Amino acid sequence: MEYTNLAYVLASILFILGIKKLSSPKTARAGNAISSIGMLIAIIATMTSFELLDFKLIALGMIIGTIIGAAFAIRVEMTQMPQMVAIFNGFGGGASALVAAAEFFTKFGTSEQTMFLTGTIILSVFVGTLTLTGSFIAFGKLQGFISGQPIVFPGQQILNAILALTLLSLGTFVTISGMQEINMFYAIIIIAAVLGITLTIPIGGADMPVVISLLNSYSGIAAASTGFVLMNNALIISGALVGASGLILTNIMCKGMNRSLANVIFGAVGLQNDTSDGEVKQISYKSSTTDEAAMIMDAADKVIIVPGYGLAVAQAQHAVREVAEQLEAMGKKVLYAIHPVAGRMPGHMNVLLAEANVPYEQLKDLDEINPEFEDCDVAIVLGANDVVNPAARHDTSSPIYGMPILDVDKSRTVIINKRTMNPGFAGIQNELFGFENSIMVFGDAKEMLTTLHKDLKEL
Ligand code: NDP
Repeated sequence: MEYTNLAYVLASILFILGIKKLSSPKTARAGNAISSIGMLIAIIATMTSFELLDFKLIALGMIIGTIIGAAFAIRVEMTQMPQMVAIFNGFGGGASALVAAAEFFTKFGTSEQTMFLTGTIILSVFVGTLTLTGSFIAFGKLQGFISGQPIVFPGQQILNAILALTLLSLGTFVTISGMQEINMFYAIIIIAAVLGITLTIPIGGADMPVVISLLNSYSGIAAASTGFVLMNNALIISGALVGASGLILTNIMCKGMNRSLANVIFGAVGLQNDTSDGEVKQISYKSSTTDEAAMIMDAADKVIIVPGYGLAVAQAQHAVREVAEQLEAMGKKVLYAIHPVAGRMPGHMNVLLAEANVPYEQLKDLDEINPEFEDCDVAIVLGANDVVNPAARHDTSSPIYGMPILDVDKSRTVIINKRTMNPGFAGIQNELFGFENSIMVFGDAKEMLTTLHKDLKEL
């Protein structure tokens, strides 16, 4: 047992070191590897600490799980990453709930069924089941199996409140009085499963990454709680780490959108006709071609590239790197402006650009890059919309009012690439497109950048 706990301490240190390294794209791969080694140590320590284990069954489970997990991880597209994480969270929560339930059925009615054990089992089953059903709804919305629109009905919040209160009172009653009636246990599972669904359906598809991050935190709480059920230190520590980091990430994302968590969960943002006049305002704009864009860039000394969701959709990360390299070869200073909520998942732009080997030193976050726009000759906006909308600074009626934005409009010229005048995630028109110093270059980001690269080379 002492060796097992020592191994758990070592595993926990590796988890913490791994998470620390995940904070920079440069060290993120090493961070992943370090945490995985920690997990391997924890698994081996757990298996060897129990005698009479059926290793054959465990090995079979591990092989099947590894094949399924690896196959999906290899095939998944970068833009599908949020739903992949949703499924993993869901299974994590489900596994915690199952382990806790197994412990319940073993100890039910015996002298070992203490108040502490019952309480932790209930917490684990409740949070784990809610995470499972909530994560599957999140997955369905992002994958298109369920409408990405918020699904709302009259009395929804009241129903949720009733379900949550029933769960809370039932859980407290059962913990204090001891579980005499097995049906109460089943009732807790069913209510938690329904609550996971009813809490997630009113949330719009595009807000799902925030919800997934929150559900990730829940899966950690469920795991930590199961750790208390089993008195397993590694599970308690790793669960607490997941719970805390999920909450921190949720907070960062909410801040980046300037919205409260309550607004994300209960605001039903994304519901159609959410703009006041029901349709997007039309604005007049200038549009041009890639060869004119190439000429403007030729005259520039400093160019800032602003990637957004459209760049990820177009898979134009390699094309943008080639353009940037060409500009550097022409003697220009090139920087990338990274908004914390550009794209559809945390770190979306960092991951995308790292995949194309864009030098990390060129990626500048919001606070670092904003002062740079004032002496920037050309800002080129690629498939970004909301994160560069100046309305966030002054229009109190705008859904994105108060959201920190990239100050691209302060550049001498702003070249904006997107396919149409359609709005982005927030569903609102962008006044930037009509500004005196703005030029639209329409087209798919990858195609446009490939042509621009050719045009720059031909100058
Ligand atoms: P937006 O969603 O505001 O805009 C993306 C733009 O890309 C669209 O206007 C679209 O215009 C364009 N686009 C789509 N496909 C292509 C293509 N193939 N080539 C060129 N352009 C294309 O993206 P931003 O990155 O600016 O902002 C992200 C938004 O998502 C914010 O509102 C944020 O709050 C929200 N969000 C972000 C999360 C995160 O974790 N990052 C999580 C949840 C929400 P068109 O169709 O005309 O081409």
